[in-house]
Amino acid sequence: MNAKFPHAFLKLPKAIDRLPELAYNVWFSWNSEALELFARIDRNRWDQIVHNPVRLLLETEQEVWEALIRDEDFIHHYERVIQLWDDYYNEPTWFQKTYPEHGQHKIAYLSAEFGFHESLPIYSGGLGILAGDHCKSASDLGIPLVGIGLLYKKGYFNQKINSEGRQQSEAITYDFSKLPILPVLNDQGEKLTIEVPLADRIVKLQIWQVRVGRNSNFLLDADIEGNSPWDRELTGQLYGGNQDIRIAQEILLGMGGVKALRVLHLPTAVYHINEGHAAFQAIERIREQLETGVPFHVAVEVIRASSVFTTHTPVPAGHDAFPLPMMDYYFSFLFSRWKQHKQAWMRLGLEEAKPLFNMTHLALNTAALRNGVSKLHGQVSRNMFRSFHGNIGEQEVPIGHITNGVHLKTWLAPELRELYSRFLPGTWLENQANVDLWRSLELIPTESLWEVHMQLKERLIRSARANLREQRRRNDLPADKVEEVRSFLSPHALTIGFARRFATYKRANLIFNDLSRLDRLINNPDRPVQLLFAGKAHPADHPGQEMIKEIYRVAQMDRFRGKIVLLENYDMNLARYLVQGVDVWLNNPRRPYEASGTSGQKAAMNGVINFSVLDGWWEEGYDGSNGWSIDGNNDADWQTQERENTESIYRTLEQEIVPLYYNQGKPPHQWVARMKRSIQTLTPLYNTDRMVMDYTNHTYIPSLKRTLAFLADHYDTATKVADFKQFIQANWHYVRILEVNDNVSKSMESKASLTDSRQQVKEVTATVRFGPIWYKDTAVEVVYFEEREDGWHPVVVTMEPSKELEDRTIQFRAVIPSHLRHRAHFSVRVHPVSPNFATSFEVPLVTTL
Ligand SMILES: *Cc1c(COP(=O)(O)O)cnc(C)c1O
Repeated sequence: MNAKFPHAFLKLPKAIDRLPELAYNVWFSWNSEALELFARIDRNRWDQIVHNPVRLLLETEQEVWEALIRDEDFIHHYERVIQLWDDYYNEPTWFQKTYPEHGQHKIAYLSAEFGFHESLPIYSGGLGILAGDHCKSASDLGIPLVGIGLLYKKGYFNQKINSEGRQQSEAITYDFSKLPILPVLNDQGEKLTIEVPLADRIVKLQIWQVRVGRNSNFLLDADIEGNSPWDRELTGQLYGGNQDIRIAQEILLGMGGVKALRVLHLPTAVYHINEGHAAFQAIERIREQLETGVPFHVAVEVIRASSVFTTHTPVPAGHDAFPLPMMDYYFSFLFSRWKQHKQAWMRLGLEEAKPLFNMTHLALNTAALRNGVSKLHGQVSRNMFRSFHGNIGEQEVPIGHITNGVHLKTWLAPELRELYSRFLPGTWLENQANVDLWRSLELIPTESLWEVHMQLKERLIRSARANLREQRRRNDLPADKVEEVRSFLSPHALTIGFARRFATYKRANLIFNDLSRLDRLINNPDRPVQLLFAGKAHPADHPGQEMIKEIYRVAQMDRFRGKIVLLENYDMNLARYLVQGVDVWLNNPRRPYEASGTSGQKAAMNGVINFSVLDGWWEEGYDGSNGWSIDGNNDADWQTQERENTESIYRTLEQEIVPLYYNQGKPPHQWVARMKRSIQTLTPLYNTDRMVMDYTNHTYIPSLKRTLAFLADHYDTATKVADFKQFIQANWHYVRILEVNDNVSKSMESKASLTDSRQQVKEVTATVRFGPIWYKDTAVEVVYFEEREDGWHPVVVTMEPSKELEDRTIQFRAVIPSHLRHRAHFSVRVHPVSPNFATSFEVPLVTTL
């Protein structure tokens, strides 16, 4: 695979001829020295062109280069950045040290969006930024990850807010030759393309490369010659269009993604899909296996072993699902070639009740390892997909969680990074996930932390005023109204930030429920409070746009003028200013709709204190001293929750947050102490280094090993597992628990292993008839519940065979606490097991009594 820099760069002076290497690697987005180097070339332009280094290089005149190479400072700066880059590229990595034997296999990471930097607008919000941050940490840690996505001609829209507070979405058609991406070329120097069958035709996709530190991402682009005008539009917009566009995009991403990996000759062993959008990867990979003669059920096992699925959606309605006739149409190429397997394919995604083909079902059925994105979301997902896994308790459903994080080097203000570097151990960035290391943060003098915080706050306010001035100027407001914004916002007022996609569940307008109470908070002359809002609503989300209008309307009220502001075009650039510059980060979603949320994690590492509903990551991050919670009864109906959350917001602000901020003098010592608590306790956990190491240790490496084992000796293990599952499924109905007997009153002294207290125990027996199934291919278990500090937990006791009866019937026994009664307190169950299963309930078959 080749990718060449454009000819235009040949004329760069020799002294700075590696600039394109920097511009075409989004490593610049997490290296402030590199960003500053570009900014120095032409500061105004740099801001005007949304910090796009490729455009900057292409559009800078020769005279400017000639002048720059005579500027010694600039040359030194350039050389320093090149040195940083070379050092970064060559340093030994965590992955090399931890898994030296696994370097030759790639892990594919498929996602509909990636947020690397504001100059590459192929993200809409949290999901994409998470994907970008994931890839960045993968590079930092040396993980051989290769990202796969789509390249959207119009990206995601730019948001403008008009003088009525209406969101206007501006579609920009991007010139790909001016983005930090490169066309991949084949050996003949031609643009590399792949072909994806779609319904009755073939769609061609061009492959583009985004360099991400040590690794690469590849983006697929349908806007090329040879495709019909309709097909060229398929990669027009992120989440644009109707269900037809949607399914087509998902086919291009999932099936095209696999084809791209093949044509790029990347030896890929694990496929991680970030949300269900890319789940069609499984269909393409099953098809590949069929073409080589592998039976369908064996192919499914190979694909399951090598797939990892991260779900992000805590509500059933949020999962993508397509009508079956639509599947018929779009997959006609596949179903006509492999008629005999059509039903089996459809079953992989079938949501029977509707009936629909559900992408999350497809992902769950074709990925052995699955996870939600916070502890709470894992639980919500297990509950939501319980029916998938037989009659087992929610806690045993094989969906785990790996809590999201953010990429520290991208989101931490450079000024703070410098400050932390002075007090934390020298290796703090590489070891950022080490909790102990953050203790040294105590050493930072209160004044120093506060001073940097104030600098960042002032920078935010300057940028907010510029944002508002531009809004007003564009909306043709009179000159005095445009100039008025100079007096808006004060660095001395307690500043609260609220910025995210304006999806309705995020309830951006919650704090407006009682405007008089809000008025008293904001306009208290001694203790003023100000609020900054920003966020886009999806163009099809009308309630979300109504929220924007409401915020705008409130911001226009005389009493809130200059104290509540709505900034336009929330993107990664504006997000950086906000999460680094406010005092408090407010988040009040309807629980449990926020699967994780990540903006609060960005805020926390910058010393901005979270004030949030205990949902998503904050439910596990909040410890009572590192921020504030917004309370309410989680079991009440929505209206009650909304009322209680609102009350909690006002009360906490009035009684805790505002007094803490204003009562402690300058700098406010206790406030800064809480900032430190927040940084110390949250940064080491909620960063993507920790997250990506978790993915590697708990999903990538186990999947890789299992996949290699499955494929060895001509698919020997995969075939055994597949045949075993078929056999078990066909014969499970023979398995019966005939009798459970717990009256055997043979009380005995406890063994130390059962419990610490000298508890009475008793024997329980179960008689199980197996039919043709070998009893050793099953586990017979007693299940009961035990109360611990954090609620009731299932306890599983494996029963041992004790007596063989006639007719393939076996008696099992176990010892359990004597107070437990069958049916009232415990049950006995049988389910199939195999050392080759990835999880205990891989086959959703459980027989209980
Ligand atoms: C971090 C980020 C998000 C995600 O924030 P949430 O807390 O998950 O809502 C969305 N958009 C931008 C631009 C971000 O930087």
